[in-house]
Amino acid sequence: MGHLGLDTMACPDCDLPQTIPQLPPGGSARCARCQETIARNPSDPIDRPLALTVGAAIVYLLANLTPLMGLSAVGREATTTIAGGAHEMWVQGSEITALAVAFCAVIAPGGYIAFMLTVLLAVRHPPAPPWVGTMLRFAAFMQPWSMNEVMLLGILVALIKIATLADVNPGVGIFAVGVLIVLLAAIAATFDRHEVWTRVQWADGSLPPPEPDAPPAAGARA
Ligand SMILES: [Zn+2]
Repeated sequence: MGHLGLDTMACPDCDLPQTIPQLPPGGSARCARCQETIARNPSDPIDRPLALTVGAAIVYLLANLTPLMGLSAVGREATTTIAGGAHEMWVQGSEITALAVAFCAVIAPGGYIAFMLTVLLAVRHPPAPPWVGTMLRFAAFMQPWSMNEVMLLGILVALIKIATLADVNPGVGIFAVGVLIVLLAAIAATFDRHEVWTRVQWADGSLPPPEPDAPPAAGARA
């Protein structure tokens, strides 16, 4: 399925109502008055975010399974992973912080990546079964809670404190977290929720109408 045929919408920038023609793959449409890009038909709306999501899954595993950093002081050495760090916080009485780290750095990004992988694989050959729509909602719920950058900031602050007491060696994990942050942003930038939505079949076998929370502009969809 390509993009919908003729579509009427108001320019989000200057409110000029206009008809959007069918766009070729890779094409985009500009507002006739203010030149703002108002519609786009990405050339590979599924495969590009899919490739990024596969990359993110690999980097996520690296970030969680390899040590973030190693510490050595007076002849003793220790390394820690994200989960190890959260466990340590819990043991030391910071249960709330430990739960926040576990959710924002492990559960939410892991869930987001898993749901996105499922959705993108399922819609490669439309129509996708109705449960894919539910998965899409789960992914949207998890996305804002994936806050590895907050964790990275916390780690850097902690490192600066610790660095005066011990030798700190960055591990593979901390670089993986950095790459993961970039990949998660790239997925969000290339993912076209609307395009995915048009490929999901409804429970009664029909294709869905426009998404309920989509902007109310596209009323005339033939
Ligand atoms: Zn305009």
